[in-house]
Amino acid sequence: MNYLSTRGGASTDDLNAVLTGLSPDGGLFVPEKMPEVDVKALLELPTLEMGAGILSAVLPSFENMGELVKAAYKDKFETNDIAPLVPLGDDYVMELFHGPTSAFKDVALSMLPHLMTAGRRQTGETGETVILTATSGDTGKAALEGFHDVPGTRIIVFYPDGGVSPIQRRQMVTQQGGNVNVCAVKGNFDDCQSAVKTAFTSLSGSEKLSAKGMKLSSANSINIGRLASQIVYYFSAYASLLKQGRISFGDKVDYVVPTGNFGDILAGYFAREMGLPVGRLVCASNDNKVLTDFFMTGTYDRRRVFIKTSSPSMDILISSNLERLLYMKSGDASLVKDCMDKLKAEGVYTMPESVMSSIRADFCAGYCTEEEAAREIRRVWDEKHYLCDTHTAVAMKVARDYKRQRNGDAPVVILSTASPFKFPAWVLEALGEQVPADEFEQLDRLSRVSGLAVPDNLSALRTMEELHTGSVGREDIIDYILSVLGIE
Ligand SMILES: *Cc1c(COP(=O)(O)O)cnc(C)c1O
Repeated sequence: MNYLSTRGGASTDDLNAVLTGLSPDGGLFVPEKMPEVDVKALLELPTLEMGAGILSAVLPSFENMGELVKAAYKDKFETNDIAPLVPLGDDYVMELFHGPTSAFKDVALSMLPHLMTAGRRQTGETGETVILTATSGDTGKAALEGFHDVPGTRIIVFYPDGGVSPIQRRQMVTQQGGNVNVCAVKGNFDDCQSAVKTAFTSLSGSEKLSAKGMKLSSANSINIGRLASQIVYYFSAYASLLKQGRISFGDKVDYVVPTGNFGDILAGYFAREMGLPVGRLVCASNDNKVLTDFFMTGTYDRRRVFIKTSSPSMDILISSNLERLLYMKSGDASLVKDCMDKLKAEGVYTMPESVMSSIRADFCAGYCTEEEAAREIRRVWDEKHYLCDTHTAVAMKVARDYKRQRNGDAPVVILSTASPFKFPAWVLEALGEQVPADEFEQLDRLSRVSGLAVPDNLSALRTMEELHTGSVGREDIIDYILSVLGIE
């Protein structure tokens, strides 16, 4: 399948799109044409086979997809069902956090190393693939978990110093493995992500790296291999609703997605373009509501204060995957390039009204303040005895707002992206409980209060040694990368 850069400067096949991650012109790869699938037949398959069918449609050059999918997910998740759909009142919560690091990033990052290893084998790649990753908290650990000790790969993770939860930090700095590095970056997530992207573009053609047989790639959602795996759970939720008799084939379902980098919700748009009867895709933001404003006005304006919230994985003002939507909706790479240049230089761009109205036909958006998120956690617990994390709370509140003003009554699926135990202090506070200073005491208390068990991977952190305690300024990222790679 042919993939094009959103900025018009490059094209490649699906194997190389996954292996390289980012296009050399700074754009993101999108399929030249959406693959056609037999939706009805896919929905009747068991989840892993459905996944293999969807992944082979999006990434057709990969051989033995069924085997790759099995190897990626077998015995990795707490529940047999990778994305259980839990009824909550009239709505449904899709729990995506039962993987090895307790966040939804596990769904895609369990798969990506298998895609990369297969891609390397098929293209005869013998050098080392160096994966650079910027994380707002959850991608980092999920990528480390997926890539540690995978032959032929090396992974370097950068996270914003003070910009992730204490548990998220601890998950990363205790990571073992001969091929991993983790480093804090002074600044917020946008600083971190921009610096990593710059390092990526300036090092990707570097002779110093190629002389050592090294090639860069990315585990961020700019990599199409990640998006591809996320399409699957939009189908699996729809299949569950069919099985439960809640809908008939062809009925629309609305999805509400807690959003940061726009990767998760964009996978829903891919599902829709592949023929899944998706109604509205509702983009839920926290106080960093740059996307809500964009959907409303057509102007994307990142010139505002970056707010640190209790949903740190959504603390983002430069939402990178939106670029893919702009390209798919406008079909105009020079418009997209122009907007992205403006975003970089001036911090703002405006989309033509024609493109916006096509976007608004599929998407709507809303946001949730800090107080509202805390109240939502408490409300859902008191009224429904369901414990949700701070990111999911944002989506729950936006879902209620959405239902009040929409037409129709399609079932609403709320994507739950993290375990409440990843953010125990905020969740306890929202419940009106005392918050112990020690993060492991917080876990114990939350477990007592809720009657739920602490996920094993988080309990295990208690006794693990901190191995990666370094930090760098964002201007030193390139030097740091060269030095861990042993390049002068
Ligand atoms: C990454 C993340 C999000 C946002 O997902 P995007 O694909 O970046 O929009 C939401 N919630 C949690 C818990 C996350 O880790």
